[in-house]
Amino acid sequence: MKNLLRIGFGGILLAGTTFMASPQQATGFTTIGGSLNLGQRDFRVYNNFNGSNANNNTTIHSNWPQYTGAELSQWKAGAEWNSRAHGDGSGDTSQGTVGSGGANFSFFWNGNASGIGGGNDNIISSIGGSSGGVLAYTETPINDGWRIRFYGDAWNWQDGPGSVTFGIDMQGVGCHELGHALGLGHTTANGATMTAFISGTGQGQRSIQQDDINGVQYIYGVMASSMPSIDSITGSLVPGGTVTITGSGFSTSTNRIWLQSDIVDGTNAGGDHVTITNVPSTNNGTQLSFVLPSSGWQGGALHVKSDVGSAGSLLSESHPFDGQGGGGGGGSNDTINLTVSNSNPTTGSTITFSWDSAPPLMPYTMVWAFTDNSPFFNTYGGIVGTGTTSSLGTGSFSRRVPGGAAGRTAYMEIQVDQNGTIFDSNTITINVQ
Ligand SMILES: [Zn+2]
Repeated sequence: MKNLLRIGFGGILLAGTTFMASPQQATGFTTIGGSLNLGQRDFRVYNNFNGSNANNNTTIHSNWPQYTGAELSQWKAGAEWNSRAHGDGSGDTSQGTVGSGGANFSFFWNGNASGIGGGNDNIISSIGGSSGGVLAYTETPINDGWRIRFYGDAWNWQDGPGSVTFGIDMQGVGCHELGHALGLGHTTANGATMTAFISGTGQGQRSIQQDDINGVQYIYGVMASSMPSIDSITGSLVPGGTVTITGSGFSTSTNRIWLQSDIVDGTNAGGDHVTITNVPSTNNGTQLSFVLPSSGWQGGALHVKSDVGSAGSLLSESHPFDGQGGGGGGGSNDTINLTVSNSNPTTGSTITFSWDSAPPLMPYTMVWAFTDNSPFFNTYGGIVGTGTTSSLGTGSFSRRVPGGAAGRTAYMEIQVDQNGTIFDSNTITINVQ
């Protein structure tokens, strides 16, 4: 089933849904039937968005660690529907708090995928071509998952993260499409994210309104007062490190920690969470302590589930988790924060690459390719530079942009070899003028 988000000239027409909507109220939200079960809370991005503005945000925000560009825009889009604020709720200047659903529902951000996935693999990606005025669509089998496609070539997609004044806002459209994924149809309530009309660039769609909140609460239930909540995550956020979570609503002995899997695939397995089971609480259900596994996980987001079972009220909201996963050789961890001084340079100019959060005093290799096939471990087009990271895990170097790159788009990442385990960075996109 496809729910089509359309845009028309002169402003903005969304129409043509193919589902049978069943109104719950005289005016307001509609549902398409069903709900996502607890095993389908994951969502990922296959970043095949190649527009020049779809991945030009290379700034990492501390409330959203380790992701930038298209991934970050969609992570925020999903987190807006969550039960409570993601971390401290910051990171989007266009709305006060990200995470406003107030229902027994939170999406689970699981990072990158390497393909578009099947119709129920919960992956957001770009599709070529166009379809009239359609911006994007959601395939919604509902209970067992979904798939979202943006018409990548047809629109000037903007990854934000600030105000989007031209083109189309990826975060706003993503928030709308993810509303379909969780079971909502279009609404007649003015200003709601699920309205069949967007205004301007669609940035207003980023923030769900009371009618959308009513909808997600109708489907998943009003957030239970017993739902576990995370206030802070501290400790040693590396393989084998001991982590302390402070919050509330933790059970005595059956808590589960959900970490992102480091599997990057185009099918279902990469969406599964890595689960640490039977974590006891202390301090009256307000503190958890556990040891991070040696491999298999990556940083990004973390949830606490207070007990076994399938009720949505058992799963906490998401919380930023800047863990530095081990990966075990060739893992696509995106744990290093890579930035460039100018992502739209002219040939002959000099640009500077900088990074932090890398393993200290280890050899690095920065690689490029003309396609974004991150991780680039064996598939890169060439090497940009090599060297050794500083004692603080930082570094930088400059390069002159070669004339032969004129008009080309190049994708780059840095890889650091820590005694056989490869850590890599976010991918940056360079659009040579
Ligand atoms: Zn729609």
